[in-house]
Amino acid sequence: MQAQVINLMERLQDEFNLSYIFIAHDLSVVRHISDRVGVMYLGRIAEIGTDEQIYDHPTHPYTQALLSAVPVPDPETRGSRERIILTGDVPSPANPPSGCRFRTRCWKAQAKCAEEVPLLAVPERFKGTDSPAAHESACHFAEEKDVVHAA
Ligand code: SF4
Repeated sequence: MQAQVINLMERLQDEFNLSYIFIAHDLSVVRHISDRVGVMYLGRIAEIGTDEQIYDHPTHPYTQALLSAVPVPDPETRGSRERIILTGDVPSPANPPSGCRFRTRCWKAQAKCAEEVPLLAVPERFKGTDSPAAHESACHFAEEKDVVHAA
């Protein structure tokens, strides 16, 4: 059923030259259908870029954790992936943490993360480069991390 709906959406897109905003939790489907991907956490965009930038070169710790949890079908590459386990619960959107909303679950959090809201921007060191990490990320300490993902 899901495949039929996606095929129909793609056919209509070709026929009528449509744009979609597609909201889903299934990361494989999102990659299949999207040219541009935005990752949200607690109501805010954490990271945004092309599907290749987000899936193969994520710079935000939340995206990195999400992608590390996707099952890898290829047994050859499965062992090479570092699984990132998030601890703690998602805070209430009605009373989000100060600074970065992800800081209560982020393994990279530092004092600055509680004091300043990170802006959605291309990390300084990647600006003007053709690095796939040169896309917008709302993290004070954004850095590229290759992720072995499902095809
Ligand atoms: S700003 Fe700090 S807490 Fe937020 S994702 Fe980046 S390192 Fe983690």
